[in-house]
Amino acid sequence: MMRSYYVCWLLTLLSWPVCAAPSTQSLLEEAQRYAADYPGLISLCDLTQRTGHPSRAPSYRAKGPPPVSLPNEPDIEASTLTPSRVTGKTLPRRTIAPTKVFDNLYYVGAGNVAAWVIQTSEGLILIDTLNNAAQAQQYIVKGLRTLGLDPADIKYIVITHEHGDHYGGQAFLTAQYQPTLLMSERGWQALQNGTVAVHSSRWGPAPTKVTTVAHRSRITLGEITVQFFATPGHTPGTLSVVFDVKDSENTHTAVLWGGTGLNFGPQGLQLQQYAHSALAMQQTVQQLNIEVFLSNHPGRDGTAQRIQQLAQRSPQAHPFVSNVSHVTSAFRLLEICALIQYQHIGLAEKP
Ligand SMILES: [Zn+2]
Repeated sequence: MMRSYYVCWLLTLLSWPVCAAPSTQSLLEEAQRYAADYPGLISLCDLTQRTGHPSRAPSYRAKGPPPVSLPNEPDIEASTLTPSRVTGKTLPRRTIAPTKVFDNLYYVGAGNVAAWVIQTSEGLILIDTLNNAAQAQQYIVKGLRTLGLDPADIKYIVITHEHGDHYGGQAFLTAQYQPTLLMSERGWQALQNGTVAVHSSRWGPAPTKVTTVAHRSRITLGEITVQFFATPGHTPGTLSVVFDVKDSENTHTAVLWGGTGLNFGPQGLQLQQYAHSALAMQQTVQQLNIEVFLSNHPGRDGTAQRIQQLAQRSPQAHPFVSNVSHVTSAFRLLEICALIQYQHIGLAEKP
């Protein structure tokens, strides 16, 4: 079934509509079944938002001043914009305390954009750097010290995609600690070519030197191996990350989805790439027995709520651990929402 879908997807891409696509209504009904498990993802299926819809699409362009993002769009954070550009008022700041989530995984992000740290016997791997130097200092450096870790031990920084709320703190951290910066080849090219569609004056500088990582490549630091998956969609260079997390005697495999929002306007090819990446990740989840779904925005994976649950956990249940079926359904939900938005563009374009 999965293989036939691939064939259909490919033929559809070649404008050869030989396969009947499921209706938007049936996809929406399926999406609703997963919504309770992933309340932070279901908004991607909302056809009344501007996501993917021409009439509500942001005026994205290759270069130039930033478009204004919606304050409720968690993938280009409201806080990356000056308050006056969003509502004219200062938005309340939510915060998430630095937290040891697994024995080897720590949250040191802000309230609306994540920074995760994997601890190994040979040093730390930081995933994303927040918006700018001030945030990197406030959340990552202070957060690590609060947790008893030394930011000087950061050996690698993974940049999940070419938006500044993920790379903005890298210049500060790189100058301080000289880690190796890792990102996808396509993300690196987009930064170099100036083809990234969104910008914010709040973002720190883009990297000037990185080591690119290929699809399915791995790095190993100490006892931990991190595998990278190119998952184009949210941006062309989005990189998702798979690694093991430890909870006492138990080891679970986690995936961090590298870019979630469909906030790039009515780009049909990009929506199809997103759906394809989310479909491919469903297979990966099953092949690698992935039981933990993480995001680089805490609103997407319910980080804050799950951290609260962590404090009251029963001896067995870890609130970040679900099962292969649940994690697969997260990616099916992401796939469905991209397909729905793609279909919606098609409908909107008909006279
Ligand atoms: Zn982004």
